[in-house]
Amino acid sequence: MDKTVVLALARAELAEFLDRLGEAPYRADQILDWLYRKNAVTFQQMTNLPLQLRRKLEDEAVTGLLAEIDRQVSEDGTVKFLFALPDGHSVETVLLSYRSGSSACISTQVGCRMGCRFCASGLPGFIRNLADWEMTAQVLQVRKWLMAEKRALGGLVLMGTGEPLDNLEALKGFLGAVKDPSRLGISLRNVTVSTSGLVPGILELARLRWPITLSVSLHAPHDELRDRIMPVNRKYPLAVLMDACRRFAEITGRRVTFEYILIEGLNDGAKEARELAALLEGMRCHVNLIPLNLVPGLSFRPSGDLAVGRFAGILKERKIKVTVRRRLGADIAAACGQLRNLYQGSDPDGCRRYERQGTSKGKK
Ligand code: SAH
Ligand code: SF4
Repeated sequence: MDKTVVLALARAELAEFLDRLGEAPYRADQILDWLYRKNAVTFQQMTNLPLQLRRKLEDEAVTGLLAEIDRQVSEDGTVKFLFALPDGHSVETVLLSYRSGSSACISTQVGCRMGCRFCASGLPGFIRNLADWEMTAQVLQVRKWLMAEKRALGGLVLMGTGEPLDNLEALKGFLGAVKDPSRLGISLRNVTVSTSGLVPGILELARLRWPITLSVSLHAPHDELRDRIMPVNRKYPLAVLMDACRRFAEITGRRVTFEYILIEGLNDGAKEARELAALLEGMRCHVNLIPLNLVPGLSFRPSGDLAVGRFAGILKERKIKVTVRRRLGADIAAACGQLRNLYQGSDPDGCRRYERQGTSKGKK
């Protein structure tokens, strides 16, 4: 009964599938071209395939592309998409626009089991892993939207809902599709994988020597505070995590990025800045300071400009490369996981948009 998902297949696997249908292998190239270059959504649109093959494909397979439930466009150019998954769950993907280009922020799980205290994605809990092709579909759909606007996709950040290294096999399959010239064809140099600090996954990525950027969500400079806001730290405390980051940098030759959300009165003092500088001393790395996005229902507040400036200044004095990131999409349920929460009803302020739940979901 289960149909083959074409987005899940590499060229050789697709050729094998077509062979079972009695078709020639070059048809695989045509189908991949339609899906990945010409933005076909249905098999019927693949007009250089014989009608009979298109019908056979409709019987035996699905493309894997996802139906769009909602789209919100921010004043600063951020676009947030909510897609329907085949089993009725939904997943969000965000398009971030910088002066240097656009990048797509991809989700890797439905929900998340890591339970970070400041995060909207973790609020409804963990539902399931995404398959590799469900990540591929997100990229294709954002790229299609960009192409219609005559813009190109610059890079990918795996910073949407979910913990990528808690879904390692699918992540590896997805990165395989990303770098494959006959599929997404995006250089892994333009891909950032963000993790809350799952050490075995970091070491596995290092072992693969793929030239991705590893981004580690630090958010606290010592175990006592990190234990409190990120439960993952109890399993992989800072000393173990930093060791894995150094190994990653050594093996891949790529410098690691550290994300540090500034939360008012919690981790944004001069003391924490000095502790962070000491933790990173001697490491080739980059720190991104991010003002917290407000999450309805959570009591954490973003740090003020003064505290952000002081924190960045202390790191710079100690020769640590630091960027203060702009908060993008602040007007459109910006923090990851929020748009999905609106539709699930776990956002107390989400009633207005929540009303649309019934009608939008019916689109699929
Ligand atoms: N699970 C991975 C990737 C997804 S979260 C990780 O934790 O790294 C992507 C980034 O968003 C992480 O750095 C995370 O800490 C950050 N984030 C989560 N909630 C946030 C919030 N309310 N405001 C700002 N950043 C947030
Ligand atoms: Fe999961 Fe990342 Fe959110 Fe933590 S910050 S709950 S790891 S998505």
